[in-house]
Amino acid sequence: MMQWGTIAIPESLTERLLINQQPVSIAQIRSGLLGLCVGDALGVPVEFSGRSTRLDDPVTGLRGWGTWNQPPGTWSDDSSLTLCLVDGLVAMGGPAQFSLQPIADRFCAWYGDNLWTARGEVFDVGGATARAINRLRSGCDPRQAGGTDERSNGNGALMRILPMAWLRSWFTGAALLDRVHGVACITHGHARSQIACGLYVWIALGLLEGRSPQEAYRWAIQSLSPIYANHPEAHHFDRLWAGDLAQQPIDTIRGSGYVVNALEAALWCLLTTDSYTAAVLQAVNLGEDTDTTAAIAGGLAGLCYGLAAIPADWLAGLARQADIVDLGDRLAAVL
Ligand SMILES: [Mg+2]
Repeated sequence: MMQWGTIAIPESLTERLLINQQPVSIAQIRSGLLGLCVGDALGVPVEFSGRSTRLDDPVTGLRGWGTWNQPPGTWSDDSSLTLCLVDGLVAMGGPAQFSLQPIADRFCAWYGDNLWTARGEVFDVGGATARAINRLRSGCDPRQAGGTDERSNGNGALMRILPMAWLRSWFTGAALLDRVHGVACITHGHARSQIACGLYVWIALGLLEGRSPQEAYRWAIQSLSPIYANHPEAHHFDRLWAGDLAQQPIDTIRGSGYVVNALEAALWCLLTTDSYTAAVLQAVNLGEDTDTTAAIAGGLAGLCYGLAAIPADWLAGLARQADIVDLGDRLAAVL
């Protein structure tokens, strides 16, 4: 099977991709979405700072200003593109209408017209995402819009892929994985980015079923390693396949903009902490691409620990919190 992405899913292996197809709850959508946006907002003021700076001055809560001179609670492209994906899924309304075009249209509306921005302006965009959106504006098919060269493997697809996990009631596992790859390809067409997105969504599916972080991680790699094992890109994920990421020392974990680093770092933060707060603050305080690492970690940590685990003052300080909740609730209504 390969209709949406560019990675073949052998028919003989589809039984490895069996998933629970119960609709997810409103609470699970709220906690994942707000967990992601809060993580993003925690990291925005210190994006690009080094680890030694974060060790000297660790982030402990919402700050303002800094790197982008934005008020406290301002989230960035990571949340915007995630919300654009949700908005596109809501507009589709059901699995029969699934298409990449409504999602691509909203990505263009974000970049051009500030759709789903925290405060009416786009202030942060990745290079591969900007190039892909320019191709979309020229009429490129969304499936071909993302760069396919090896350098186009930033974390820009991974940071916005979480809502695909909520489509478990729309599609079988194999059909869902193929669509995850396809949604990645709108901005990131290289197989490494598609694999990272597949792994992340499967970890999220594991958490949605109530597995612990370590159990969800083991289940995801057991489910997906047969699918990806023979792919020439698989070896870039060797540290993940080994199953012992939590045992890796912090010095080997980088919160950089490279998709493999970002997936490892976010998962490592989830595996080595025991609360939402500790997971996202650890992600920010790794330094480098702080907002994106914390958004990726925060989505998983939100699913894992639930909305009540996100500090109330962080939620209260988050830009457009009510709009985010409303959008998530509208997605729940069509699942
Ligand atoms: Mg950002």
